[in-house]
Amino acid sequence: MKKELFANPDLCTGCNRCTLACSANKEGVFQPSKARMRVTNFPLRGFSVPNICFQCPKANCLEVCPTDAMFRGADGVVRLNRDLCSGCGACVTACPYGMVEQDAKGIPYKCDLCDGDPACAKECHSEALVHTTGDAALFQLKAAQMKTRHNSGTPLEKRHKVAEALKRNSRG
Ligand code: SF4
Ligand code: SF4
Repeated sequence: MKKELFANPDLCTGCNRCTLACSANKEGVFQPSKARMRVTNFPLRGFSVPNICFQCPKANCLEVCPTDAMFRGADGVVRLNRDLCSGCGACVTACPYGMVEQDAKGIPYKCDLCDGDPACAKECHSEALVHTTGDAALFQLKAAQMKTRHNSGTPLEKRHKVAEALKRNSRG
C-alpha cells in the first residue's frame, strides 16, 4: 500500500525540527521559510499546527496551471516541471492551503514528499507528522483537514487561517 504524509496538530510541540529538516534537505540551509511544509505557531495561545501539502486527488494547483508545468507523477505526488513553468503564480493562488510558494525568480516550489522518504516526518519526534500507509483514524483526520480550505490571501495568510480552524475543530 502507498504511504502518505499525515499531520496531527494535537501532537505538535512547535519545535520546528520538521521545517529545519525540510529546508536543509531541499535548499541546504536551516531556514523554515524555505521549507515545503510549515508550522504555524500561536505562542501566546499555546498551540502549533503543521501545515502540509495533501497531494490532493483533485489538485487545484495542477488544474489551473496553463502550461502543464504542474503534473502528477506515477506515485501520485504533484510535482513541478521547472522547464515548462512561466512563473505566472496561478498555482500559488489556487492552493487553498497555502502550500505553494514562489522563489525569488518566481518559480514555484512545493512538497514532493522527498521522493518517498519525507525528511520532516523522520525528524518529528512527537509523531505529529507521520509517513505511513495510515489507518482509519488518520484518514479521517486527513479528510477533515482537507475540508478546511481558504481561497483568498497570501500562502502565509491561508496557512494561518487553516491552522486556526484546525485547532478550533480539534479535540486538543
Ligand atoms: S499544493 Fe495545495 S492544491 Fe496542490 S496538491 Fe498540495 S495541497 Fe493540494
Ligand atoms: S517536528 Fe513534529 S512536533 Fe516539531 S514542529 Fe514539526 S510537526 Fe511539530
